Amino acid sequence: MKIEDCLYFETDDGCAICGIRGAEKLSFHHIDGDKTNNKYDNLIVLCYNCHNQHHQNKGLAEEQIRDRKRRLMLKTLTIHGVSALKMASRNSAGVAAPPALLYHLVGLGLMTKAEELSLYYPEQDGPYVEVDSRFVITAQGAELVRRWFA
Ligand SMILES: [Zn+2]
Ligand SMILES: [Zn+2]
Repeated sequence: MKIEDCLYFETDDGCAICGIRGAEKLSFHHIDGDKTNNKYDNLIVLCYNCHNQHHQNKGLAEEQIRDRKRRLMLKTLTIHGVSALKMASRNSAGVAAPPALLYHLVGLGLMTKAEELSLYYPEQDGPYVEVDSRFVITAQGAELVRRWFA
């Protein structure tokens, strides 16, 4: 999924503050104020009204926007995703997980798939093999953990 699509998806195609919909009313706000930082965790969808109010110091404060984004990220990255990122940021070997659980993080550039692991379980009613993947964190993923979930 493209980052833009992901941002619209996490606010349900509306403003992250007031919820108003309609693509022509919406814009991306750069949370750290740096317009060249177009990474997923620095962008949030706001309508022109909420966006202008914020920049005129009349709307929500920076901290409230950050709280809102943190909650949106928990939804988008999932609880599994955020704990995997935290674990991987402390362990250079990364984390092993079923691919479907963490592929969205690869799409956002936060993790890369290092290898496929075949796990052999010698169960009583017959052995079985489960294919997991080992994921390692990217520099962008480590930065996201440091900024938001440390
Ligand atoms: Zn709004
Ligand atoms: Zn802005």
